[in-house]
Amino acid sequence: MQETAISNPSIVLESVAEAIIRAEKIEKYYAQPSDNRIQVISPTDLSIVPGEIVALLGPSGSGKSTMLRMLSGLSTPSAGRVFWHGRPIAEAEINVSIVFQSFALFPWLTVLENVAAPLQARGVDPADRRERSLNMLDMVGLDGFEAAYPKELSGGMRQRVGFARALVVEPEVLFMDEPFSALDVLTAENLRSELLELWAKKTMPTKAVFLVTHNIEEAVLLADRIIVLGRNPGHIRTDFRVPLPQPRDRKTEAFTQLVDYIYKVLTRPDVEPAEVPGPRIRDQRQMRYQMLPHARPGGIAGLLELLLDKAGRDDIYRLADDLAFEIDDLFPIVEAAQLLGFLKIEEGDAVITPAGEEYANSEILRQKELFRDAALSNILLLRQIRRALETKSDHTVAADFFLDMLDEQFSEEECERQMETAIAWGRYAELFGYDSGRRRFVMPDSQDEEISSGEGAQ
Ligand code: ADP
Ligand code: MG
Repeated sequence: MQETAISNPSIVLESVAEAIIRAEKIEKYYAQPSDNRIQVISPTDLSIVPGEIVALLGPSGSGKSTMLRMLSGLSTPSAGRVFWHGRPIAEAEINVSIVFQSFALFPWLTVLENVAAPLQARGVDPADRRERSLNMLDMVGLDGFEAAYPKELSGGMRQRVGFARALVVEPEVLFMDEPFSALDVLTAENLRSELLELWAKKTMPTKAVFLVTHNIEEAVLLADRIIVLGRNPGHIRTDFRVPLPQPRDRKTEAFTQLVDYIYKVLTRPDVEPAEVPGPRIRDQRQMRYQMLPHARPGGIAGLLELLLDKAGRDDIYRLADDLAFEIDDLFPIVEAAQLLGFLKIEEGDAVITPAGEEYANSEILRQKELFRDAALSNILLLRQIRRALETKSDHTVAADFFLDMLDEQFSEEECERQMETAIAWGRYAELFGYDSGRRRFVMPDSQDEEISSGEGAQ
């Protein structure tokens, strides 16, 4: 299993090709009126090499935009250095473009003038400007709209203008900061595949693309390499090559496996990321127990009820905002609901399933039943505990028995946490009770159980 795993991918990556942009120990901090400063990015090495689409993923506030601005020369690091083809970026003649989420078009200019603007800034003569801009509009599917003003266009078309304006200067590196997040799902999907097509056909001379996104599926769909940022302060959690051929199909197992992997990295900020799942590295023993996200059943119910209120679907980051939750706190709840089959993730949206809808609409006792059924069919550990209790004549079983199996897969600390979560879920669903004095699982109606089930019911 070890041979095909990428255990330290960043080392592999740096040696692949000569970097276009290379950052050495770059940091960003902001001074404070008091003495202490706010560190936004801790010292980070990162290179952008020709031939790849790099996606930078991370929770909001982790410093993705800050990183993009430093790499693209838009802002200067507080410490460390950035090189463009080996020369300090401030002294080099760099050729990059940036596409932002908000289209940032000039409202008083026509589509054609907007696209031509950067050429004008570079001193290209008017005839050339016009020709190159028209070609570019053609390429992004906007011919016929040359004379229109931004306000006359839909969001998707405005972003097409944004792309045309970025590409018209034939940038060597194209930077994009959440370019699809302001668009509706279909428009975004459309634009993504068109961009991929342009890239794959080498229609644009661009050598590398650096995409900032918080959408995991988007990263797995587009990127050759994915970097995941953690926050407080921003740092690289993992950096790996996407082991899937293009074009990619969201429905394949390899695709969903990689999406799950990244979710795990994002939901467990305190745990060293495991190896990247590759097509052949799936090991039965390794996959045996799902990692139970540390979420309370009450939290899962709350999330599902909120989703139902929002017509069954909402962007995860918006949900976090609405709840005034840190995204890292919301992720485990989302993941738990997903594991139980109560919701799905599509395009960065949490979408309630029919089972989730039934759960959210039921009263408490029925909810427990539904949770119990979902847990038994989806979660191996809970199923095993329950079955052991049913099988044994005294209807109790030692927790250590399960810890021994879990510790083949998880660290000691994580085993304890897995056990805590399993106990909370099992109690809530009345699958079993737990006698913490004797460290034994017991049947739920048993007299042996400690009277302390409040934990599971919050
Ligand atoms: P992301 O794009 O991942 O959401 P950003 O790069 O925009 O994150 O921001 C990273 C962090 O830097 C945030 O916590 C933000 O509050 C902080 N930050 C950005 N600009 C400043 C500033 N001028 N002063 C202090 N903190 C800032
Ligand atoms: Mg940002």
